[in-house]
Amino acid sequence: TWSAVPAGPPDAILGVTEAFKADKDPRKINLGVGAYRDDQGKPYVLDCVKKAESILEASKPDKEYLPITGHAEFTKNAVKLAYGADSTPLKAGISSTQSISGTGALRIGAAFLARHYPHSKVVYLPSPSWGNHVPIFRDSGFEVRNYTYFDPTTLGLNFEGLKADLLTKAPENSVVLLHACAHNPTGVDPTPEQWAEISDICKERKLFPFFDMAYQGFASGSTSRDAFAVRHFVSQGHQIALCQSFAKNMGLYGERVGAFSLVTADPEEKARVDSQLKIIIRPMYSNPPVHGARIANTILANEDLYTQWEGEVKGMADRIITMREKLHNILTHDLKTPGDWGHIKSQIGMFSFTGLKKAQTVALADKAHVYMTADGRISMAGLNASNIAYFAESVDGAVKG
Ligand code: PMP
Repeated sequence: TWSAVPAGPPDAILGVTEAFKADKDPRKINLGVGAYRDDQGKPYVLDCVKKAESILEASKPDKEYLPITGHAEFTKNAVKLAYGADSTPLKAGISSTQSISGTGALRIGAAFLARHYPHSKVVYLPSPSWGNHVPIFRDSGFEVRNYTYFDPTTLGLNFEGLKADLLTKAPENSVVLLHACAHNPTGVDPTPEQWAEISDICKERKLFPFFDMAYQGFASGSTSRDAFAVRHFVSQGHQIALCQSFAKNMGLYGERVGAFSLVTADPEEKARVDSQLKIIIRPMYSNPPVHGARIANTILANEDLYTQWEGEVKGMADRIITMREKLHNILTHDLKTPGDWGHIKSQIGMFSFTGLKKAQTVALADKAHVYMTADGRISMAGLNASNIAYFAESVDGAVKG
């Protein structure tokens, strides 16, 4: 029956983990997948999550189904976290649903727009973007195009190119995907002033802003600072779409906790959009898993746990910043590795786009047992006090050839 099914390529990111697992060398390092590790290189369960779980256990919750759009209190608190407690649309009407983490939010959003956004079936992604954005939008019926984002010569933002593409290349009404903060894979974010210009351009060109916020808190260590772009666009009257993930900022990766929301014009419009979100979700997976949403909601709803959580997010962000500084210093000062490594320090969030070429990443895997994606992206969270010197020496070796 399946004799004509062709073998597909391995996933660009999860394939790196496969290669890492097969490597038996004790020095091996996996910088492929974007999952936080502590300074011992171990997965990290946040203390506030452990506390929330014990509170939940004591409350002896049942295992009944959630409604189609999930845990209502969780979704309300998630939306409040992103838009801000005093956000105007929060009162007027934000249609929202729990989702299977950020990926599921993107998929619901893309499916909703494909069915109900009447003006365009074209989405513009930053070049480059998270690899999964392309198939998510393509499989939902969108034509996927790119707008200029990263400048390979400066390893920073090509803001002039970005503006030119949104002003002249993207047809009016196109959907534009924006990484709310901690852009993946480049670690390069627009400044607040640049965000304000992007918001103006979207307004002028009637582009639909579709935000992916997978790292709220991870860029600056502050969840409200990281929500700047989302809140600015909303304050300017944009009816945005927003995807939220609690995988990284609460370390709830495998629990699959997220939310999708759409700003609507008024409660009546919200009610109609709500009804259509349900119609999209019901045949996909009926209703979302309950445990992770309960954990996240316990943290968001409890003042003490919320404060503790903010500290723990900052702790993760700060450890990554320390690793950026150390790596930069070892490469620049200790090893005098050829090239300018300033971008390691200036880039933001979990990832750094090193500028290493594909051949160098292959050599690093083959010769040094150091694994990263072929585009030269490294997860900074995979570095720690024990492996950073070895990693820097390996990079030095690869650069000097
Ligand atoms: N968007 C971006 C930009 C991401 O980097 C990720 C995670 N790698 C996601 C969405 C979704 O992740 P998850 O489904 O685990 O929340």
